[in-house]
Amino acid sequence: QRRNPGEAEFHQSVHEVLDSLGPVVAKHPQYAEAAIIQRLCEPERQIIFRVPWVDDAGTVQINRGFRVEFNSALGPFKGGLRFHPSVYLGIVKFLGFEQIFKNALTGMPIGGGKGGSDFDPKGRSDAEVMRFCQSFMMELSRHIGEYTDVPAGDIGVGGREIGYLFGQYKRITNRYESGTLTGKGVAWGGSRVRTEATGYGTVFFVESMLATRGDDFDGKRVVVSGSGNVALYAIEKVHQLGGVVIACSDSSGHVVDEKGIDLELLKDIKEVQRGRIADYATARGDDVRLSATGSIWSVPCDVALPCATQNELNRADAAELARGGCRIVAEGANMPTTPDAVKLLAEAGVQFAPGKAANAGGVATSALEMQQNASRDSWSFEHTESRLAAIMGTIHDRCLATAEEYAAPGNYLVGANIAGFTQVADAMLALGLI
Ligand code: NDP
Repeated sequence: QRRNPGEAEFHQSVHEVLDSLGPVVAKHPQYAEAAIIQRLCEPERQIIFRVPWVDDAGTVQINRGFRVEFNSALGPFKGGLRFHPSVYLGIVKFLGFEQIFKNALTGMPIGGGKGGSDFDPKGRSDAEVMRFCQSFMMELSRHIGEYTDVPAGDIGVGGREIGYLFGQYKRITNRYESGTLTGKGVAWGGSRVRTEATGYGTVFFVESMLATRGDDFDGKRVVVSGSGNVALYAIEKVHQLGGVVIACSDSSGHVVDEKGIDLELLKDIKEVQRGRIADYATARGDDVRLSATGSIWSVPCDVALPCATQNELNRADAAELARGGCRIVAEGANMPTTPDAVKLLAEAGVQFAPGKAANAGGVATSALEMQQNASRDSWSFEHTESRLAAIMGTIHDRCLATAEEYAAPGNYLVGANIAGFTQVADAMLALGLI
């Protein structure tokens, strides 16, 4: 904490991983001898830069840009960009730290990194978003590349922003280097299923959890927080598998729709009109109301999928979920569940899937996008989705097997932390003191 003052989220994510590692370090003294943990906690490189741009009124605006290149033992740095007013170094570092282990779990050759800006795209015109992205890329372009660092989207960065960023990268470098950014449109080097991948992947992971006790999604009541990229496609896959999503949200509140969320309507409002969850309630009429107070986690359900943001599910929420009969919490978002909530869920016998395992489908499909770019190929939706489903099944089984090996049977958090850590640690040992 003395070394990284004021970076609360980063401290939280490091604690969460280190809490699981005692038995590993005891079993493998070479990790301590080579100071693997200390090296893992120190990013290889962090870049902070000024992003000046002009808004539609002609006023000069200044934002701060970040890219934290955390660990490249397994491959080029890989991780998204987040545009949200809450972004500061502590958020970017927590996300980058998580990304190291998540990327290892995918089994793909990718290191961990993350970036973003405190720019808020909400309420900005397309032209403003484009000018911001172009200015952001002026600096970022010096640091990224197919073999160096490959950014993607995250909160506030979707297909529109990746388009502007890639266009500017291409212009600066005079190279159509598709493998430098992922999350591109299918017509210009993107992969099918990338848009859907994180949400679908989270639901595939839960499907495997249910299967371990001979169960499935059929008829399950599911609550999904958020209504952005991850949430929308988690809802879609739950519905395809026979479950019903009865509630979702944005930062202004949540809606409960007992008949099941009307996904086509929600997609139109969120993806086309860039509207709010309140617009969904209005469009659905009397049956559905926006609840601006109270927690979405008080809605009784079988499965809860936090898919919005960090620390959105606290201890009181976890208690509500357990009381309402929830059996599984799986993180579509990064670190949405607070440490004391994770503890309460365990005590209450609710199965918990951490984000670094459950939401790894997004980055895994980004790695599949890089594969397609490298071979100048474009795979079908069915082929790409089957690859994603297989990867999620493998991550699930690996977490369970590792938890079992380290005497914590059924504990996905311990399994994910140890499996991700050992893979990166072994690579760092092999590569020497770098
Ligand atoms: P989007 O920007 O598409 O959607 C974010 C959603 O979360 C919106 O509904 C937003 O509501 C809500 N939200 C954001 N911040 C807050 C907040 N402070 N309080 C309440 N609600 C909030 O982002 P994504 O769907 O891409 O990302 C969601 C989560 O999933 C993040 O934690 C991200 O790191 C993680 N993730 C994303 C991946 C991806 O492929 N996109 C991959 C792996 C993880 P509002 O519009 O009102 O702000």
